Amino acid sequence: MSGKDTSRQKLQIAIVGSGPSGFYAAEALLRSGRNVSIDMIERLPTPYGLVRSGVAPDHPKLKQSIAVYDGIARDENFSFFGNVAAGRDVSIGELQGTHHAVLLACGAHEDRPLAIPGVGLAGSHSATEFVGWYNGHPDFRDRSFDLSHDVAVVIGQGNVAADVCRILAKPVDDLRESDIAEHALNALAESKIKEVHVVGRRGPAHAKFTAKELRELGGIAGVTAHAKPEECVLNDESRIELEDRANFNAAKNLEHFVKFAEQIETSGRRKIRFRFCLSPTALLGKDRVEAICLVRNRLDGPPFSQKARATDQTETIPCGLVLRSIGYRGVPLCGVPFDDTGGVVPNAAGRVMDGGKRLRGLYVTGWLKRGPTGIIGTNRADSIETVENLLADASEAETKSGVDALRPLLAERGVRWVSFAEWLKIDAAEIERGKKRGKPREKFTRIDEMLDLLAR
Ligand code: NAP
Repeated sequence: MSGKDTSRQKLQIAIVGSGPSGFYAAEALLRSGRNVSIDMIERLPTPYGLVRSGVAPDHPKLKQSIAVYDGIARDENFSFFGNVAAGRDVSIGELQGTHHAVLLACGAHEDRPLAIPGVGLAGSHSATEFVGWYNGHPDFRDRSFDLSHDVAVVIGQGNVAADVCRILAKPVDDLRESDIAEHALNALAESKIKEVHVVGRRGPAHAKFTAKELRELGGIAGVTAHAKPEECVLNDESRIELEDRANFNAAKNLEHFVKFAEQIETSGRRKIRFRFCLSPTALLGKDRVEAICLVRNRLDGPPFSQKARATDQTETIPCGLVLRSIGYRGVPLCGVPFDDTGGVVPNAAGRVMDGGKRLRGLYVTGWLKRGPTGIIGTNRADSIETVENLLADASEAETKSGVDALRPLLAERGVRWVSFAEWLKIDAAEIERGKKRGKPREKFTRIDEMLDLLAR
């Protein structure tokens, strides 16, 4: 990336997190024409965040952005520090001391809580755990999911719910040539699940699936998608919402739900059942989940602000697995302001704010900045905005050592960081392991395995 002004000292920038928002920020910095040096710090030895461990294995096209990130990482002004946790191995305050600016791009990896009785029973999990498990994320590889029951219930109707529903419902043979973790493939091969209920607290006009994802759920071989005709009837407010052309995705979703409501029940096929206007109130079971209690909601409020209000009607669905997919929140970082209600770092267009005060040299991007919304590409514009403000504020006049201070600091603490060249070694080994199984890669799912490979 050329045309740089090399007359002044380099701007030393630390980016914390190596998912899409971190890489798009690095790209914007490298393209800015300013003379920058970027140190990207990542807790895992592997880069790419949710593109590696969140995107569903049967959606390989969504992982193509990795080629762009790989190109960015090969820039001579970019260094990757994998296996380094900000807050554990190096503090944000220390990075502020060594770098002109610290850009937080750590995402939102905690689940929004669902505080209902029984939520802690065995068989009740967050979608995060399930997604991390089938994608081979080291934090979740030892989780186990009991797939020996007939019925699973997914709470929430966003694209993460669509992903977990699809992985539960799909014939396992359709996943064999994906990069799904082997332990998950083996467990799914033994799955006895016959029905997946996908429960929304509001109506069919409010499901957050993108229509493409919903259509895919209706087209899985050997699986039928159903909805209840009476739950697909819209109130006047929802009809007004769907008349708005900007809301075309919801209108398309409704078309799919209406089709699903016309499907004839056939025995011997797995079923996905979309349910609406139901909120979970409790999970029942002695030692593990045996049923979920739901309350029927009515919709209340004007178009585009309709809320779910509980009625006195209830329903119980016997089930053996519950996956909660109701969104994410960011995790507070030591020394960084945090908005606990929104689950984000308070900011003004990416500049971190403490009360009304701007914190010098501290920036945020991605889900930690705006909350868990949008697709991978949404992060590009978001990161460009943050980087524009960072560069407007930054001054090369102040001397900062950047990587020359970071390396000795980590070495002194015995931190075994993983460079980008070392990641490429892990990458090549994963691809090689995958070849033997007809998969694009077989991921290493333990950090020790990765470090052992590098020690060889
Ligand atoms: P999401 O799209 O915000 O969906 C969250 C769902 O949970 C909504 O149906 C919401 O209902 C429901 N919910 C929230 N609180 C609830 C509660 N207390 N009780 C019951 N239901 C509740 O979030 P997500 O599915 O986690 O996805 C996060 C982002 O990643 C989205 O932007 C998504 O599009 C993106 N993503 C994209 C892809 C893809 O492109 N293929 C794949 C995965 C994720 P309300 O509407 O009533 O709040």
